[in-house]
Amino acid sequence: MIAGVHFAKRGFILPPMMTSRRSFITRTGAALAGGSLLHPVRGTADDSLTSSGERPLIVSTWPFGKAANERALETLTSGGSALDAVEQGIRLTESSGNGSVGLSGRPNAAGVVQLDACIMSGPEHRAGSVAGIEGIVHPISAARRVMEKTPHVMLVGQGARLFAIEQGLEAVNSDATTRHEAWHAARMAEQANPSTKSSGQDHDTIALLVLNADGTVAGGCSTSGLSGKLPGRVGDSPIIGSGLYVDNEVGAAGATGVGENVMRYCGTFLVVELMRQGLTPTEACTEALRRMAAKDPRGEALSVSFVALDKHGRFGAATAGQGFQFAVTTPSFSQVLTSRGLGELRRVVEGGNVR
Ligand code: ASP
Repeated sequence: MIAGVHFAKRGFILPPMMTSRRSFITRTGAALAGGSLLHPVRGTADDSLTSSGERPLIVSTWPFGKAANERALETLTSGGSALDAVEQGIRLTESSGNGSVGLSGRPNAAGVVQLDACIMSGPEHRAGSVAGIEGIVHPISAARRVMEKTPHVMLVGQGARLFAIEQGLEAVNSDATTRHEAWHAARMAEQANPSTKSSGQDHDTIALLVLNADGTVAGGCSTSGLSGKLPGRVGDSPIIGSGLYVDNEVGAAGATGVGENVMRYCGTFLVVELMRQGLTPTEACTEALRRMAAKDPRGEALSVSFVALDKHGRFGAATAGQGFQFAVTTPSFSQVLTSRGLGELRRVVEGGNVR
């Protein structure tokens, strides 16, 4: 156990509908994945780390999510709402130059960075999103304005850009050619010296989920999407129920990875619905991936990862990929954890090592 952190033991906070949950997971086989699924990158492989029992609780994708989580927590501590926390946390990542988030993200096949983002508020079940937006520094703020200032849920392309500018959001005239050349030079350098390659080159969306002290749930997502995508391609990240879903009665889930493989299954909606049926966040993420992999020709090579949290203060993640890292933050704890992949889970199950 990490010093100074009082995490509840796994199973200590029992989910509702325990009986039906058991039979449900036995039926699907996913319960086998309900053993030790999470490994802290540092510290111990303690199952209790799947439940903080503490609020606020903030969970996000990838190691860079840790700084975003901490910004979100600061926002809450200084009186901001769950939505403010989501927006401020993601804004940090959008301007940090990390991964494929924000204007320093991956250009499309035409050398242009087109950004996707969405935000969702649990209590009123409201959502806003922008897709294929160009030259806007903080697409997450544009998504929030769509939710709060228009009767719509989603704006795309030039319309989304003009709306963001009209709302006073920071915009740049992006020089697509210069950006593409810089990006291409960096890729060439990486190929020449693979040790400089950063992790998760093409799958670096931030999805950030907040459970506030008052039980309010909110979430957001922001990305430049897959590098080299066709101009106009929209991924899962701005699609409510694919890249992000929030239900104030249940919890929230976010996705990262190959968006096409999430969109076909309404991935995060599925994760939240599985939690509604009584699965823990990790079990729900795992079961959603198992179902997707069972049907999809790519099987376990889906390259999709989910993070989730529930109203009980539990969190989790799973990946149909390898070594997916995610960040978890509470007032007394902030750490990058890594989830097991489906393939590893299957080997653990076959080896009979599941507790
Ligand atoms: N899900 C994103 C997309 O397909 C990519 C990512 O997670 O990096 O656009």
